[in-house]
Amino acid sequence: MIGASLAGMAAVQSIRASGHDGPIVVVDPAGSLPHDRPPLTKQVLAGQWPLERAAQPAAARLDELDLDLRLGVAATGLNADRRSVSLSDGSELEASALVLATGSHARTLPTGSGHGGPGGGDGSAALPSGAFTLRTGADCVALLERLEAEPARVVVIGAGFIGGEVAATCAGRGLTVSMLEAAPVPLQRVLPGGVGGFVTELHRRNGVDVRLGVSIEALNLNGDGSVRGVALGDGSNLEAEVVVIGVGAAPTVDWLADSGLTLLEPHRGGGILCDETLLAHPGVVAAGDVAAWPNPHFGGELMRVEHWENAVDAGTHAGRRALAELGGRDASGGGEAAEATVGAFSSVPWFWSDQFDSKIQMVGRCGPEDEPVVVAGDLTGDRFVVLFRRGDLCTAALGLNRPRQVMQARMRMAESLDWDGVAALF
Ligand SMILES: Cc1cc2nc3c(=O)[nH]c(=O)nc-3n(C[C@H](O)[C@H](O)[C@H](O)COP(=O)(O)OP(=O)(O)OC[C@H]3O[C@@H](n4cnc5c(N)ncnc54)[C@H](O)[C@@H]3O)c2cc1C
Repeated sequence: MIGASLAGMAAVQSIRASGHDGPIVVVDPAGSLPHDRPPLTKQVLAGQWPLERAAQPAAARLDELDLDLRLGVAATGLNADRRSVSLSDGSELEASALVLATGSHARTLPTGSGHGGPGGGDGSAALPSGAFTLRTGADCVALLERLEAEPARVVVIGAGFIGGEVAATCAGRGLTVSMLEAAPVPLQRVLPGGVGGFVTELHRRNGVDVRLGVSIEALNLNGDGSVRGVALGDGSNLEAEVVVIGVGAAPTVDWLADSGLTLLEPHRGGGILCDETLLAHPGVVAAGDVAAWPNPHFGGELMRVEHWENAVDAGTHAGRRALAELGGRDASGGGEAAEATVGAFSSVPWFWSDQFDSKIQMVGRCGPEDEPVVVAGDLTGDRFVVLFRRGDLCTAALGLNRPRQVMQARMRMAESLDWDGVAALF
């Protein structure tokens, strides 16, 4: 098992639940079991929860899972044909089956911005003092310490889900916050038709200074190397003691060069290419943020999904898939069950985000040409549902403070994406 976060630990749990009692090695460069990530930008950053409360679901079950858990150890290379993995402690691991669950890491700004490029899972480590990305519990604690010192201004770069949550939480702490977005509308890549404009309205209503179509030239630094603010593309400067970079995540695949696996180019979404059962190579499966697979529920559309629930569901499926690769009944003791469930991983992505007192929920996945159709409320208000239409299909539903209706759409879409069936709910 490569990666001990949500997908990796879900895979482990499903392997044990299937009755396999053989040895399972789990490696992860994190010094302790990675935290559950959603509360980091919400309750933990708000100061409502101690970090320990953001333990991932498997944390309480570690003893019964009986793992050879090697924390502080990264996989540095893979030979897929041999199913062997090189580890950062200099050792080599040969496995009968491998699950790759190395997730994604926070992107930083392009190198020209004066502070180095993407920095792996611990993106903040390469940044100047006062600049942060937020991916891990350690990132969260470091940022929280700075927020507790009540900086005069926090600048959040990026108005995506992470940026939006950080901005909302900082504003909720009573801090002055500017959120800068390069695109003319937030979430332009995930929500076609300018629908993401609701994020601008939501944040402005709550006192955040939202600036759209803004490019970042560089981080401005003090003489001691700490952050003083941001230099903008129009030649102006914005002073800030804290800068949070929320410009998305990239799949962690750097260690897989020459592995024999197919890695997708960034313009195709990146990640490890799997078949519809999440098999990347004989004996090697992948799951969670790092895996791309043709999702049968969407007609085989290639997807890589960076959502909590996908990591759990895909990890669970990948565990069973890996078990079947072990060679069946004798090796697993649960081969029959494993074989029966080694179908395709067919799913409807599901995501939520909490910003201020608002609940944003999205089911499905839309493409750039999909047509938004507002079916409840309106996009400028504080409650709405919008469906996305592609011909006869409803590819996604997005709701703001409409949990019951989004849940109904979710159940209907799990049965079928047929447009009429979903639209009839409203
Ligand atoms: C701050 C934050 C808030 C979020 N909030 C939400 C939310 O509200 N709703 C939602 O649906 N989703 C949310 N997400 C997304 C969700 O948390 C992720 O989709 C999920 O964590 C993915 O799980 P994963 O196991 O695939 O990958 P990750 O959680 O990225 O874990 C990958 C693991 O692999 C390890 N690893 C990396 N490289 C190596 C290597 N070479 N060798 C060994 N191990 C390695 C890493 O250390 C890490 O522990 C949020 C994410 C973040 C960062």
